[in-house]
Amino acid sequence: MSIKKVEAVISAPPFHMVGDGFRVHNFIPGRYSMERMSPFIMLDYGSKHYFPPTDKPRGVDVHPHRGFETVTIAYKGKVAHHDSAGNSGIIGEGDVQWMTAASGVLHKEYHEENFSRQGGDFQMVQLWVNLPAKFKMSQPKYQEITNDTISKVSLENNEGVVEVIAGEYQQVKGSAETFTPVHLLNSKLNKGGKATFNFPANYNTFIIVLEGSVVLNETSNVDYNCMAVFSNEGTDFSIEAKEDAIVLVLSGEPINEPIYAHGPFVMNTRDEIIQAFNDFQNGKFGTLN
Ligand code: MN
Repeated sequence: MSIKKVEAVISAPPFHMVGDGFRVHNFIPGRYSMERMSPFIMLDYGSKHYFPPTDKPRGVDVHPHRGFETVTIAYKGKVAHHDSAGNSGIIGEGDVQWMTAASGVLHKEYHEENFSRQGGDFQMVQLWVNLPAKFKMSQPKYQEITNDTISKVSLENNEGVVEVIAGEYQQVKGSAETFTPVHLLNSKLNKGGKATFNFPANYNTFIIVLEGSVVLNETSNVDYNCMAVFSNEGTDFSIEAKEDAIVLVLSGEPINEPIYAHGPFVMNTRDEIIQAFNDFQNGKFGTLN
């Protein structure tokens, strides 16, 4: 066993709005590039924020994606999704939407209607997971992963629970199907609770603290709404909760291919990006009202 060292602890950058419904802090790409964090090429964190009641649900209107997957994890509030592949769904607290855009979809993302009418706290993570070249033009797909279907590992001595969204934890497999090795572990630790993790040294690995505050490897403090990135040496680390805490742990095998990204498209070459814009303009992503 060798310790995976903490390379950086990063406070949430100033928020920006995506549409009028997603008030997000962009953690990736930022100090760390898409290549360094691959396969995690984008992460927008919607820190907890109260949205007042409205009759017109806030969100992001119809837009395209190609070449990767969008993963939305709801922590507070409810998110509705519709796409041009005919998939739609509503996720609430603890649920996950895993949309494989691949060859291309149009979709729209909104606060759910009842949530909008009542108003309330909203907190979410949106992650983009890259696809290797051989799957970038595969069929779009949609996985709705409700919290009751997510495998859960109870830690000893009532220290907490690790929800295995994807990948595995202590031999328990996650619910999501992924194209490359990806671990997404939502860790709910009780005050004083400690969990240990083990990932290959070359996997890009980081955490986001969504509730409470924690200590990594008994040395590095990570506060509420902060991110910590681990180095690509060593395999093992620990997270200890200073108070009741929720920590999203992400680790994935890097996809060592060129990345050419522009707006909502992430491909391998400039020509493929131009093709994506042409296909979008020529209606090849389907239709969505
Ligand atoms: Mn989108």
